[in-house]
Amino acid sequence: MTSVALEIHAAALTKCRRCPRLVVWRENVAVEKRASFRSQDYWGQPVSGFGDSAARLVVVGLAPAAHGANRTGRMFTGDRSGDWLYRALYRAGFANQPDAIDRYDGLELTDAWVTSAVRCAPPANKPTPEERDNCSSWLSAELDMLGSHRVFLCLGAFGFHALWRLLDRSGVDLPHPRPRFTHGVEVAFGDGRQLLCSFHPSQQNTFTGRLTESMFDAIVKRARLLVDQLPH
Ligand code: SF4
Repeated sequence: MTSVALEIHAAALTKCRRCPRLVVWRENVAVEKRASFRSQDYWGQPVSGFGDSAARLVVVGLAPAAHGANRTGRMFTGDRSGDWLYRALYRAGFANQPDAIDRYDGLELTDAWVTSAVRCAPPANKPTPEERDNCSSWLSAELDMLGSHRVFLCLGAFGFHALWRLLDRSGVDLPHPRPRFTHGVEVAFGDGRQLLCSFHPSQQNTFTGRLTESMFDAIVKRARLLVDQLPH
């Protein structure tokens, strides 16, 4: 379920050209394509958040992958990281199916919203600090529209630090000093919201065994528990 305000926000986002380096990169990737996707039309634009506008859980990643969300136009869709994420969300009862292939695959989320700190695919998955700050207003506006969100699940240090910076600048009552990012760290904010961290389900982490599927499942199930414990 998506609200009209979020749909308007998503439409405005697709026109953003604030970061010249990322605009060139996302559009070049969409023209050059990976050989295995040669016959497909790439999205090649900024990618909006995806999910349930009444979500209590917000998942915050890094940025669209060049041949994943930058190809399909939906967060974490069409790449290995997304395969891990949506399988885990499905097993924890946040998704109606484990597969995320393209925007028309029937995937629906309940009580979860999936988004990222930066909305354009960056070279080598590394946005600059300036690009992160340029993009923070999009995430900030999205959170304002997700009025029911209470639990954040940050995938990777970049998403964690970007979200922390945004909330800190917004005057949210955060603990100081900021906790060090690590897998499984949990933080409670003064306003009752909670944050949970996981290693990013990137191939770099999953291929090396730094993050196993059972580790990731445990984190997403922990997020489920935090959401279920919220007062109604
Ligand atoms: Fe705009 Fe964000 Fe893309 Fe930069 S990264 S061009 S701010 S949508």
